[in-house]
Amino acid sequence: MNAGSSISNRRLQGFAIRLCALVLASAGIGCNAPERPRPNVLLITVDTLRADRLGAYGFERNTSPAIDRLASRGVVFERAIAGASFTSGSHASIMTSRYTREHTIGYMNGGTRLEGITTLAEIFNREGYQTAAFVGNIMLDRRIGLDRGFEVYDDELPQAEQNRGFAFERIAEKTTERALLWLKNRDGRPFFLWVHYQDPHGPYTPPPAFKGRFRPEFDPDEEPLPILDTVTGLNGIPSYQELDGIRQPSIYETRYAEEIAYADHWIGELISQLDAISSDAESVIAFTSDHGESLGEAGIYFSHGSTTTPDQAHVPLILRAPGLPQGRRIETVHHVDLMPTLLDLAGFEVPDDISGIALGPILRGESPPPNRMVYCDEGFDLSAYGPDGFVRVGDILAAWNSGEANGSPTMAPRWAAYRWAPGEDWQAVDGIDADSKDVIRSYFRHAIPMVEAREPSELRVERLRALGYAE
Ligand SMILES: [Zn+2]
Repeated sequence: MNAGSSISNRRLQGFAIRLCALVLASAGIGCNAPERPRPNVLLITVDTLRADRLGAYGFERNTSPAIDRLASRGVVFERAIAGASFTSGSHASIMTSRYTREHTIGYMNGGTRLEGITTLAEIFNREGYQTAAFVGNIMLDRRIGLDRGFEVYDDELPQAEQNRGFAFERIAEKTTERALLWLKNRDGRPFFLWVHYQDPHGPYTPPPAFKGRFRPEFDPDEEPLPILDTVTGLNGIPSYQELDGIRQPSIYETRYAEEIAYADHWIGELISQLDAISSDAESVIAFTSDHGESLGEAGIYFSHGSTTTPDQAHVPLILRAPGLPQGRRIETVHHVDLMPTLLDLAGFEVPDDISGIALGPILRGESPPPNRMVYCDEGFDLSAYGPDGFVRVGDILAAWNSGEANGSPTMAPRWAAYRWAPGEDWQAVDGIDADSKDVIRSYFRHAIPMVEAREPSELRVERLRALGYAE
């Protein structure tokens, strides 16, 4: 409705320009309608970054001077929600403006592939933008299908994680170097550049210049945690996170903060370079993370991908664009809003068949904030976030498999409601209204089929073989 009016306004503008071109061309006259210069667009996503670990979101340690500078010149969304709490699904929501059950990656991480849905990069590229992506996580490897629309998709991941040889990654310095080199050699077209930083993802191994930057804050009652042989993080340290037998959670939290500080340093370099080549008036920057990380909430430590509660679903979202009023906003926004927002800020028409809304018109006071719920969805567990809290639905897959699809399930999903505000613990509250239940149910009942990912590239298989992970 609100988004609808902004879409039709934009349509009308587009129509007026086309009409002008048609009339003048038929009269043999060139159309002199001034062409708005297209801004350069930089999208930064950081893996596994909780909003509340950044200064701009109230963290007391100096983890994020560069991100905080960006925040001070832009719009900070306090209630931004991730599409999922795992990497490939969340990025698919960012790139397509569809929720987890509306794109073909669905709720699988690494096993499925994006297909058949137009991406943000495809539209920019079709409209004459130079496009490039630099990613640092194997879950964003081109076999996942997020490379569509990018003229350059750099997913070269030279290193293996400390505890998992098959999990290739690239650290911030190397990713930034590649992105800066591309910026230097770009052609004259406006560009859409996506840079993904992997560093806060576990294991928390900041490089030497950042390790030890913060002192662990020992709680006198701190109990050492067991090191688990699984990745769940339930009441212990997940196997992939283990740092040399260390068992105090405060040390892990400190190393996590140092990884953020390290990524922030390189994000600062990237933004400085963008600002050196284009003024504020010519560039749009969007900054977010793909999901958060549990740091002991509900007994889950140093892990993600298992719940849709705010520890894993609440993400930072900062926008800097010409003409946007700076400041902090409390509307509930979501990854699905990024695609329409960036297209709108660059002056392009927003597609109809998407789930997000363009935030620019709301920020400029041209349309009222939306009244809606947004979904963080893991498949088996989803949470629908609104202005005061969220409704969590569990056991969805079990209910589905028991006959939910044909209307006669033998098992019902579990429903629970919570009050939540950023920076606070969530509190269970009574009662979920029937309308909200209907809306949420109609969302999760209409899952589109997931599509299996392609085989890993030969180079990747060769490396896996060298490490003993592949036949
Ligand atoms: Zn991730």
